[in-house]
Amino acid sequence: MSDNQKQSNDLTQWKVKDLVFRVEGGDPGDFISFDEEKCDSCGDCAMVCAGSLWTVPEGKKARLAPKYRELCLECAACYAVCEADAIDFRYPNGGTGIVIQHG
Ligand code: SF4
Ligand code: SF4
Repeated sequence: MSDNQKQSNDLTQWKVKDLVFRVEGGDPGDFISFDEEKCDSCGDCAMVCAGSLWTVPEGKKARLAPKYRELCLECAACYAVCEADAIDFRYPNGGTGIVIQHG
């Protein structure tokens, strides 16, 4: 497996190029919430999510991957682009969530 690929199947740490993503211990809780009633199925969240954690099937409401707490990069892009205000985002509690290291 090359350096540009995930180091292992362990979701607690992986490497992309020279960046190391690591999930700090503890439960980050639900830091993204989704209001299906407000979703207009525009698909923008799926388009911007670098982790491919949103799916929006044709003519249906958006769906967030159940394992988002482990895989989300916490960029808040989905929250920023959702003009319908269907997505709410807050950074995980201190001591939990993604830590990005260079090198
Ligand atoms: S960006 Fe918002 S309104 Fe558009 S599909 Fe995603 S959740 Fe629904
Ligand atoms: S915060 Fe970023 S990585 Fe996480 S679900 Fe939203 S767009 Fe995807």
